This record gives sequence, C-alpha cells and structure tokens, in this order.
Amino acid sequence: MQKLVTSLLIIFCFQLSLTAQTISSPSDFLGYEIGTQFSRNHQVIDYFKTVQKQIPNQVKLETYGKTNERRGLYLAYISSEENIKNLETIRENNLKNIGLLEGESSADDIAIVWLSYNVHGNEASSSEASMLTLFKLLTEKQEWLKNTIVIIDPSMNPDGRDRYINWYNETASQPYDIDRQASEHNEPWPGGRPNHYLFDLNRDWVWASQVETQQRLEVYNKWMPHVHVDFHEQGINEPYYFAPAAEPFHEVITDWQRDFQTEIGKNHAKYFDAEGWLFFTRERFDLFYPSYGDTYPTFMGAMGMTYEQGGHGMAGLGIFNDEGHVLTLVERLTHHTTSGLSTVEMASKNAKQLNTEFAKFFDNSNLKYKSYVLKGNEDKLNSLKTLLNKHHITFENATTSKVSGMNYATGKQGSLNIDSKALVVHANQPKGKMVKALFEPNAKLSDSLTYDITAWSLPYAYGLEAMASTTKIPSETLLSKKALQKLTDAYGYVSKWNSMDDAQFLAALLKHNFKVRFTEKPFTSNNNKFERGSLIITKGDNKHIKNFLETLNTIAQEQAQHLTQINSGFSQTTPDIGSPDIKLVNKQKVAVLSGEGTSSLSYGEVWHFFEQQLHYPLTSINTDDFGSINLDKYNVLILPNGNYRNVFTEDNMTKLKDWVRAGGKVIAIDGALRSFAGKDGFSLNYKKQEDDVEKKDNLTAYADREREYSNNLITGAIFNAKVDHTHPMAFGYDDNYFTLKLGSTAYSLLDSGYNVAYLNNTKVYSGFAGQNALKSLDQTLVFGEEHMGNGSFIYMVDNTLFRSFWENGKLFLVNSIFMVNNNAYEL
Ligand SMILES: [Zn+2]
Repeated sequence: MQKLVTSLLIIFCFQLSLTAQTISSPSDFLGYEIGTQFSRNHQVIDYFKTVQKQIPNQVKLETYGKTNERRGLYLAYISSEENIKNLETIRENNLKNIGLLEGESSADDIAIVWLSYNVHGNEASSSEASMLTLFKLLTEKQEWLKNTIVIIDPSMNPDGRDRYINWYNETASQPYDIDRQASEHNEPWPGGRPNHYLFDLNRDWVWASQVETQQRLEVYNKWMPHVHVDFHEQGINEPYYFAPAAEPFHEVITDWQRDFQTEIGKNHAKYFDAEGWLFFTRERFDLFYPSYGDTYPTFMGAMGMTYEQGGHGMAGLGIFNDEGHVLTLVERLTHHTTSGLSTVEMASKNAKQLNTEFAKFFDNSNLKYKSYVLKGNEDKLNSLKTLLNKHHITFENATTSKVSGMNYATGKQGSLNIDSKALVVHANQPKGKMVKALFEPNAKLSDSLTYDITAWSLPYAYGLEAMASTTKIPSETLLSKKALQKLTDAYGYVSKWNSMDDAQFLAALLKHNFKVRFTEKPFTSNNNKFERGSLIITKGDNKHIKNFLETLNTIAQEQAQHLTQINSGFSQTTPDIGSPDIKLVNKQKVAVLSGEGTSSLSYGEVWHFFEQQLHYPLTSINTDDFGSINLDKYNVLILPNGNYRNVFTEDNMTKLKDWVRAGGKVIAIDGALRSFAGKDGFSLNYKKQEDDVEKKDNLTAYADREREYSNNLITGAIFNAKVDHTHPMAFGYDDNYFTLKLGSTAYSLLDSGYNVAYLNNTKVYSGFAGQNALKSLDQTLVFGEEHMGNGSFIYMVDNTLFRSFWENGKLFLVNSIFMVNNNAYEL
C-alpha cells in the first residue's frame, strides 16, 4: 500500500512538473521577474503566442483586428481540451440560449468569462497581470477550465500602452526612483491613457467611433459572454476597488446581476482579507452611462464589472504614496491576478446558474415602451442604422401612417404622422434592454451623483423626430435602397445640405479641386426648391476639371449622394446662380492647436473628425509654437476645449486678433471660450450662477456637502435650443436643436454678434441638471459668431464633437469652417 501511494505520488508529481515544464512562466519567458520591468505590447502578445504553441489543445489565440498604428489586437480562448475542440458549438449554443441564433440550445452549462486588460494604456499593471493569469489558469486552476471558457484580451489599447511604456523606459532611473516628483512619475501631454486619436476607449463601447471598439464589438456580439471584467487603475493612494458597484444602477440591471456581483465581491474579499490587502466596494464606480466596459456588457446581460488597482500613469515601477507605502508594479499586478482568478472561480462554481439567469435577461416582453419610431433626414436615419448594426440590434420599416406615444420633441404624449421610411426599433428583441438604455427619452436616475453624463438618448443625438410607444408598432423588413441615377449633361447640379454625408461629399469635391457654390438664400429652379446651404456645382465653374461629368458622377456614386440637375442659371425664384447670395466655397486651410493647454480628448475629437469622418486635411500646431508660427498660412484656427492661460499671453493674443482682423476665423470650443470671455474687444461674457449658493453651503452639514454641491452641476443633460437657421453656421438645421450640455458654465447672449443658437427655456429633456445651475441658463449662448475686422470668432459653448456621438451637432462645425463669413477665395 505504502508503495502504491509512493508511486502514485511520483506519477502525480511527474505530471505536475511536466505541465510546468511545458508551459513557460511569464518570468522565464520575459527574462526578468514579472513586474520588475514593464513589458512592451509585443512581449505580452509573444508570451501568449508562446503559450499557445506549448499547449495548443487548451489555448487558441486569434487576432481580431488592428489599431491605427498597426498593432495587432488579440483574443486568447483558454479552456479544457474538450471545450477548445468544441469552441464553435459552445459559442453557438450560447447564442441559441438567448435567442440570438435559431435552434435548440443543448445547454452546456459552460460559463463564458471575458477578461479585458489595459483599456487605458497607462494603467499598465493589467497587461502584466494578463500573462500571470494565463499561466496560473493553465498550471494551477485546470479544474475550473472543465466548465469555463476564459477569453482574455491581453491588451485592448496597445497604442496607448506602448506610448506609456516607451516613454517610461526612456525616462526612468535605474533603479527606479520612488520620489513622485521624479520625471518618471509625470507623464507629458497627452499621456498613455487614450488610443491613437486620443479617445478614451472606456467611453466608446456604444458609440464605437474607434477602430479598436468596432473590431472588438464584432467578436463580443458573436460570443456574448456571461461575465466581463474591465481592469483599470486609479490614483496611487487608493486601495483596490471591485464589485458590487455604486449607485446609480441603470433600471435594466436585474436583481440577479446585483446579487451575483455581491457574491463575486465576497469571493474576492476572501482572498484579499487573507493577505490583509485593503479594498472598497459599492462606492464611486456606478453603472449608468452605457458606454463603459462594465455597463455595456451589463446591459448585454453579463456580469459587467470594473476592477481598479491603485497605480496609474504616475506609479511607474514603484512610488512612495501618501500612506507611507511604496506601491510597486509587482504588487499591482498581483492584485489584478488575484481578482481575475477569483472571478473565473466564481463563474466556474456557478456555471449552471449563470446560464439560466443569463437566458432570463433576454426576455424583454415586459418593457414599458414596446417600439421606438423615428423619422427624418434619410442620411441621419442611415447613420443611426449603422450604429445599431454595430450592436446587432435589429430594426424595420413602419407599415402604419400614424403613431402615438411619448413625443421626443415636446417631452409629452402626442402623435406623429409617418410613412414607410420611418424606422421602427422594437424593444422585444434579445438586445431589448440595450435598446431601452439607448433610446428611452429619460433614463431613471437613482442617484444624481454619478461618474459620467446622464443623457445620451439617440433620437436627440441623431436629430430625428421620434415617438416611444407603449404598444407594438406594425412593421416589416427594411426597404431596399434605390440605386442612384447617372448624371447627364446639364447647366449645373445641386445637392441638399443637411447631414455629415453632405459634408463628406463637399470635402470629396474640394479634394478633387472642384469649385462648389453654396446658397445663402433658398431658391427654386426646375420646380425644385433648394434650401440655404445647398451646394451647386456648375459646368461653367469647373472647366478646369478633366472629364467633368464623369468625375462628378464617380464622386456622387462613391458618396451615394443624390444630385438634382438644373438647366439654367436663371432661377424661377431668386437668387440666380450668379447672384452674390450664391458664393463659392473656399478651400479652407484649417489648423488646430494641440499640446499643453488643450484637452487631449477634445483635440483628439477634432483630429479624428477631420481624418476619419470629414476626410479633409488638417494641420496640427503645438501650443508651444504658437508664438513663432506664421498664421497667414491658414484660414481657420480651431481651439479645442482647454485652458489657454499660458498660450495666449499678451503678445500671442495680439497676434491672434491681428490675424482675425485680416480675415482669419477662430473656432473656439467649450473651455477655449474662457480665453475671450470678458476680455477687451470681445462681447462674450459669462453669465454668473445665482450667488445665494455659497451662503446656503455654509449651512449644509459636512456629510451633505457633496450632494448639495450637485445642485450646481449639469452632468450631461439635453436642452432644446432656439436656432437662427438663416445664419450660415446653422444652414441645414431647423429652428430648434437639441443640444447636449456638458457643464454649467453659461455665457450671456452676444450684444454685438450673432446668437446662432441659444437657450430660451430651461426645460431639461433628458439627464440631470442641478436646480442652481438651471437658474442661470435661460437666455444663454449655445453657438455664436462675433466679427472682428474682416474675420470672425465662432463660439461653440457646447462641444458637438464630444466622444463623437452627437451626430446631429457635427454640421455646425462644418458650416463654421466653410460657410460662415466666407470671404477670400483661394484654390
Ligand atoms: Zn482606467
């Protein structure tokens, strides 16, 4: 007996060492103890590739895309040999289980856990943790893999991660310096957090404006995991944070999701307690805004969670924090490894229940609003469809002519006449809770203290008329699109001007050196009425274009742009095509300020907008160089949101004003307006908040101060602005525009200048706005233009490019560039 036990033990040990021998540990592979150096992105990926080679029956690594800087994006599937063999069947079963795929699910009761690392590039401990997690799963935790598929995205934002690591590696001392004043703890602008275009990928899950998100969503929606964890880092003094999350929780979150988060949190606590590590739960990180790495999966039925380790771009390999502790990378990655493994353990132990409860989430027969009906500009409807497709949300066309329900335009019950082009999105579909979260006019907010914006309702963002109906609206499969007609010889061709598609069409024409006119007044020709902003391309203007008709036809086809032919310059109702009211579009040379002083997010939004949406050239100028550059090379200068105190010194302000007087145009966004408000020569002025606020604060108890303070805030709320659509900045708009207000800073109406859009009421259509903040909002500026000499200052109080999702606001910026104060023509 003794002998048998001994030989069994020998066999057991042999097998154990065999596994350990065949799989390299991260430290062995990297050539340094994990956490004693930062691993560059390719090292992380190479480790995953190596492990896949060593144990291909249990690890499948696939690439799902590429970043803007051409780094690969990867997913590793880790499970038992059996499960990896049946991966596709398991995936399909999961979709059948929730009605996203036809057929009977053979309910495997296999848990699917997706672990996402390093979405913020400079929160760099988490990709290190991904390697150790992979190793431990395959060496010590094989038991869990029998009924669990673990999907690991080791590096969601490799461009950001390498930006941080390359900077750190070239900056840090040897050995590392724990003094936080050392340069290795102070990243330069813009830091490694965002992606190439400086977007925060952890705000982009729903809007999917970035390639990383777009490519990830394709795989995510094919898998629909039961658990998703997004690994982050916070300030160096913070203890670890894990689920359960803080209020507010969005209404669509089920009791099961709440309860199981708590169970997972308790399991983590067991491990953290055993080591004496500090942590907190149920505070700060809420589940409301749908575009995060925790909320998006939650609204898609998963246990979506954020884990936060103290660290961040400041921490380096080691730093002395306020609590007298030297926080090291080794410690940071150990915590993330522990919480990651504990998550997989909980999923494995509760796999059956996870599957059952997951399926229940997708029953959406009880949602209040059954259908959302939208009508309006076809381009805007199409761009909404593109967004819905990214999330595999289905939609149809209406087969009725009238709907009643909650009218988005009035915020009240009403009815709307529609035709068969109207888009219908039903709530009773598998993705119904996400439909509710994205469409409902006003999400129920259980607590006004939230981490992010409180309004995003899609009909407002896309500028569409809409109704939310409590009864199901009849509909049928989508109408197919009609092919565009081929252009024939004519005097000229006219395009409408309402949408980003029209703007892209203009940009494409300018790129091909077409001369394009736009009308400042409506006119009629060939019995067609053309509104302000309509583009006119005449044969006579474009004699310099070889094969004019053919080229125009090609561009129109490529851009799917419908053009109306006109036969004469003589209009039925004026202006005629040769009128001074019909002007040539200047091929503007546009510059934008970047670098210290500008908000990297806002700069990134402008950069991305020009390169990836408008497709129009943009020159980026560093704020440090402003004093020395020759501004005369540009017609338009964009100032993103930011703080320009150190940029616009007296000399530089004089330089800017002189350039504007000579015909330049400044477009100032959000915080950039502070550079001019109340300053000499400008009619822009702040509108102060009511001054009784401070007095009241003194009587507020210490414990209530934070909540009381929220009375002064606007945290992303939707208002209805009055628009002067005869002004070129508002061409293509109606006399109302729903604007997303991101803060409470308010400006009075301009005394001298044009108040292109302004608030003449303070009704909140969606989101949270504090009582005090609201008091000062009436009669305040949203968009305006002020002339100085031959040029203009254009004010955009509300940033229409914010996270690139307020689709309906983008044309205001395009108008500002090409149509406002359109003087000197150069080509
Ligand atoms: Zn983060």
